[in-house]
Amino acid sequence: MTVELISVGTEILLGNIVNTNAAYLSEKCAELGLSLYYETSVGDNEGRLKSILTTALSRSDIIILTGGLGPTADDLTKEVTAKTLGLELVLDTHTKERIGEYFNKIVSHGIPDSNWKQAEVIEGAIIIDNTNGTAPGLIVETQYGKRVILLPGPPNEMIPMFEQDIFPYLNRLRPHVFYSAMVKICGIGESKVEEGIKDLMDRQENPTIAPYAKTGEVHLRVTASADTLEEGMNLVKPVVEELKERFKDNIYTTDEKETLEENVVKLLKQNNLTLATAESCTGGLLTGKIVNVAGASSVLNSGFITYSNESKRQFLDVSEGTLKEYGAVSEKTAGEMAMGAARATNSNVGIAITGLAGPDGGTIDKPVGLVYIGCFLNDKITVKEYHFRGNRQKIREYSVVNALDLLRR
Ligand code: ATP
Ligand code: MG
Repeated sequence: MTVELISVGTEILLGNIVNTNAAYLSEKCAELGLSLYYETSVGDNEGRLKSILTTALSRSDIIILTGGLGPTADDLTKEVTAKTLGLELVLDTHTKERIGEYFNKIVSHGIPDSNWKQAEVIEGAIIIDNTNGTAPGLIVETQYGKRVILLPGPPNEMIPMFEQDIFPYLNRLRPHVFYSAMVKICGIGESKVEEGIKDLMDRQENPTIAPYAKTGEVHLRVTASADTLEEGMNLVKPVVEELKERFKDNIYTTDEKETLEENVVKLLKQNNLTLATAESCTGGLLTGKIVNVAGASSVLNSGFITYSNESKRQFLDVSEGTLKEYGAVSEKTAGEMAMGAARATNSNVGIAITGLAGPDGGTIDKPVGLVYIGCFLNDKITVKEYHFRGNRQKIREYSVVNALDLLRR
């Protein structure tokens, strides 16, 4: 539900009074969890007030106006609002009586004629009694589902009315539940994801999409506010379906709690596959992640940390020729590492990471951030080349996430 404030009064524009009403109401809207998107001040001028009110009605659900409800000729908020909404002003006898009583209390002589104007209200409006003045507050619920709330300008009148009547009224309008779903994406960059949802983000209102970027992953939270959980679910569902359509198998889960490594372990288990890892620059980071998952023992056989060329040769049977000709950071080495790890441990799957995490050691041909991830499955070797950016730690973390991504495919 979106709210818009319009402060009416030429004095505000002249700087004669500070707009404390807007400050107060903004704070209250935040407290109510209502989205306040626009706040305008406008002079006591029919044309300009009509213009801003028309704009507000086109873009906001609730419009709160303060000021210009007084008895004098320059007070025209009520009249202009009625005109803009195509409604009549009608005499409210209850308000007329109240105004009479109010004046009898504070003045002995008669009531100025102009004050009777304040007993006129917009037809169909909810009337809010003013205990500290004459002008009543008005709530107009339009046939288009918009709500226009008129409050007097003096803070000593406006604030008690707001507290006693308007706040509870707005509170009742608030959606009762929030329903949210999670879409977790990996294997594509953050900016690609952002590009892919830009149009959805631009026109989002309910539900909203909030992206959270984690190293190598992007999580999209889709949240709807609604009256019931079911309504919330129905609002969220088509957006999640749209995201699935757009990101396809880059989405690894829509389960709030499931991590990428849990997803990988689950998939390996489902397919009755066992795993061996071979890590160079990540030095056990990948294996550590997998071991973190409860039940990893049913899929993980062994993890090799083969940092030196010699250990790659000794434990994983990477050939001397490969290391000499292509070097440790190469497609060929990554492939042989993955195959070697699987074969040495009788595993179905081997996954290997070799790369340059830096900060030193990069060349033009092989810059820092160059990482090869090899996967061995069913006698077939697949190797992917990556160019990660960031410091040593980041490059290693990106490597792990992308290795996990490769494993689940
Ligand atoms: P009145 O019956 O006093 O004329 P009104 O509803 O017509 O009330 P205005 O004439 O716009 O309101 O303003 C009356 C006084 O209320 C201003 O002189 C000012 O002191 C105060 N006031 C009005 N608007 C604001 C505001 N936005 N923030 C703070 N004070 C305000
Ligand atoms: Mg006035």
